[in-house]
Amino acid sequence: MADTQDLLGRLPAAGPTRAANRRKVLLAVAIRPGTQADIAHRTLLSQATVSAAVRELAETGLVPGVKERGKIVLSPVNDVGVGVHLGTNHTTVVARSLDADFDQVALRVSSEGVSRGWRRALPEVRHMIDEAIAETGRRRSDVFSLGVAVPRMINPRTGDFTQPILPPWREGDDPAGDLGAWLGARAFIDNDANLGALAERTYGTREHAETVVYVKASTGIGAGIIVHNSVLRGHGGMAGEIGHFTVDPNGAVCQCGGRGCLETVIGADALIAQAGGARARNGAPVPETLEEVIAAANAQDAVCMRVIHDAGRVLGQSLAQLCNLLNPDLVVVGGRLAQCQLFLEGCREYLRRFALPGAVAESSDFVLASSELGTWAEAQGALILGLRGMEHVGSDA
Ligand SMILES: [Zn+2]
Repeated sequence: MADTQDLLGRLPAAGPTRAANRRKVLLAVAIRPGTQADIAHRTLLSQATVSAAVRELAETGLVPGVKERGKIVLSPVNDVGVGVHLGTNHTTVVARSLDADFDQVALRVSSEGVSRGWRRALPEVRHMIDEAIAETGRRRSDVFSLGVAVPRMINPRTGDFTQPILPPWREGDDPAGDLGAWLGARAFIDNDANLGALAERTYGTREHAETVVYVKASTGIGAGIIVHNSVLRGHGGMAGEIGHFTVDPNGAVCQCGGRGCLETVIGADALIAQAGGARARNGAPVPETLEEVIAAANAQDAVCMRVIHDAGRVLGQSLAQLCNLLNPDLVVVGGRLAQCQLFLEGCREYLRRFALPGAVAESSDFVLASSELGTWAEAQGALILGLRGMEHVGSDA
């Protein structure tokens, strides 16, 4: 089997635009095989340009000459793409041979996150990546690209954490740099909600949705916004910070310095505190994690059901404002709270109640859905980010 980089290097000489186009098409196919029309839609290239690029790629054997059921696929290659989601209280790693389907990933999940600091988490993360790569039948030296998702704002121009850097992350932490240097691969980093949005848009059933909002509701609350093919990052990487929408001007002080942010009302700490207080007064066991609150709600505990249902409503009210602003055709709720039906019901109820009716009417093709990829959406999005990042690395011109 061949290496993608070697084969790209063997392509016949072409001007910079043609070379860039075939690299773009190759990476789009590695992200997800598709028809010529699909690839044109994803790359924003014309179908004629895609067709020319595919012909050139077929000459070097990077894609088979004959399409599989009309789809352009990648020939067998050694290369592996890796995606890592570094949550506060969990870590998820996915690794996939570039010629395999997106759902054929090797997956590693740990309930240890970065809560005790990046330096302490790093050895375990490396171990998980090694295990996932081994499961794909490849070696560390076969890693083609790496993407990292973090629940923090990332400056889109520099790839650094946007100031101020909130704990458990610290000044000087560079997870993409550390892991990329260790793997000997280029590494890219972005906010995890942005990457969840990218994965849902790419691998969900509504690939052709135009404006997509993905909400990650876990320890914190964040949103990723996709308009056409682009993640909306904003000037300083702060777009989509729905967790800091003010929902209660007289509420609790948030770690961002604001008061009454959405996260202070429905973030994991707030939900654990609400459920814990009421259950302690009942003499019942006090939940210590968000998982325990969700499990108790799913087991019909009245206190936890109230906490989760109302949290969904509060999110729905904030999403209504976002829908009035952006008029998306797809809103996906992901993160651990999305695994709770009661949360989604509350969210749907208040979204309908507070958004412009036309913005959220099913007759207008609007869809509110829970994540199709589940808790590994962000890691899958990180894998896509890594591959997309390679568009601009090296040159076969
Ligand atoms: Zn805040």
